[in-house]
Amino acid sequence: MKAIVAFGSNMGQRQETIEDALKMMEERVGRILAVSEVIETEPYGYTEQDNFLNGAALLDTELSPRRLLEVLQGIEAELGRVRLIHWGPRTIDLDIIFYGDEIIDEEDLHIPHADFAQRTFVLGPICEIAPDTVDPRSGKTVRRLYEELIGGEQ
Ligand code: ADP
Ligand code: MG
Repeated sequence: MKAIVAFGSNMGQRQETIEDALKMMEERVGRILAVSEVIETEPYGYTEQDNFLNGAALLDTELSPRRLLEVLQGIEAELGRVRLIHWGPRTIDLDIIFYGDEIIDEEDLHIPHADFAQRTFVLGPICEIAPDTVDPRSGKTVRRLYEELIGGEQ
């Protein structure tokens, strides 16, 4: 199954942490088919914190969505993520944005990810690596959602 994982880091050695996370995903999740450029972005939600580095990866995985979430949370924990404030600083945040065209709504797992369509730092990188991915909720491509979001900001 093709899955898209968005990553972000705003504490410590951000670039190195992201590279470590990508290596761990390659070992534990599956082959990485594409990785976006890493972009620097201002914090979202809780703004009294350092800038993030954000990006996204397209993976080919045999893990179930639930198992994928567990593996990503294991990587977050190993890379020393501290979870003190919701939307607060973190060494690494790994979010499942898409898992094929599946829609999952469980208490602790929403796929597609809850507010991805409102976040330029998620849509931009996905637009770079997989612009034709269709959001199964809206039926729109990532390219179209990104254009609508950027357009709406002007
Ligand atoms: P955020 O990513 O919004 O900054 P967290 O990383 O702290 O917040 O995630 C909080 C919870 O979000 C996790 O415990 C996880 O169970 C849940 N969650 C729901 N859907 C997803 C998803 N698609 N990918 C990753 N986590 C998810
Ligand atoms: Mg997260």
